[in-house]
Amino acid sequence: MINLVLFGKPGAGKGTQAEFLKFKYHLFHISTGDLFRHHISHKTNLGQLVQSYINKGDLVPDQVTIDILKDVVETHADAKGFIFDGFPRTTKQAEALDKFLSEKSMEISATLALEADDDVLVERLVNRGKTSGRVDDQDEEKIRNRFEEYNNKTASLRDFYEDQGKFHSVNGIGSIDEITQRLTALINGLI
Ligand code: ADP
Repeated sequence: MINLVLFGKPGAGKGTQAEFLKFKYHLFHISTGDLFRHHISHKTNLGQLVQSYINKGDLVPDQVTIDILKDVVETHADAKGFIFDGFPRTTKQAEALDKFLSEKSMEISATLALEADDDVLVERLVNRGKTSGRVDDQDEEKIRNRFEEYNNKTASLRDFYEDQGKFHSVNGIGSIDEITQRLTALINGLI
């Protein structure tokens, strides 16, 4: 079983690359951001709870996020493996994920970090905002807030996974194809 964490700042290309990797390696793709947006658009109770956090570019509280993640993994227990995209984003989430997986005799195989400079990422997000309809892509203040959340709460996960020998950096600048090739070369070397 391969379980991958796609790691990187907002706009680094996690969702785009997950779309390719899930087919290539027959993995089930879980994007916590997509799950939350689905709930918001369907006006569920969870959607109402998380909407204000997401629209401001703040992280959703850990327990809410951990619960939804566990729920999706449980309902796809027959999957050959998972790609976690945008999860974990805090140490508490990473610890909860390790514990949850180990209870199922599963573990994270590798964390793949897509690296790119903030300036490139902000430009990508501003451009995406023109078509994505995402409130959090619409203005630079919200985008900057997401980077701040990343720096304050998510960046330290690099050390968490490095300590486990599972952290791998990938240059996230280039064409979508080039980056897919870098990721697949890396994954093929790991499995
Ligand atoms: P991006 O990586 O471009 O910010 P995502 O779709 O991954 O986009 O996330 C959008 C928003 O969803 C985040 O800014 C945050 O509010 C919320 N979110 C997604 N994943 C998590 C998570 N693991 N923990 C807390 N909040 C999350």
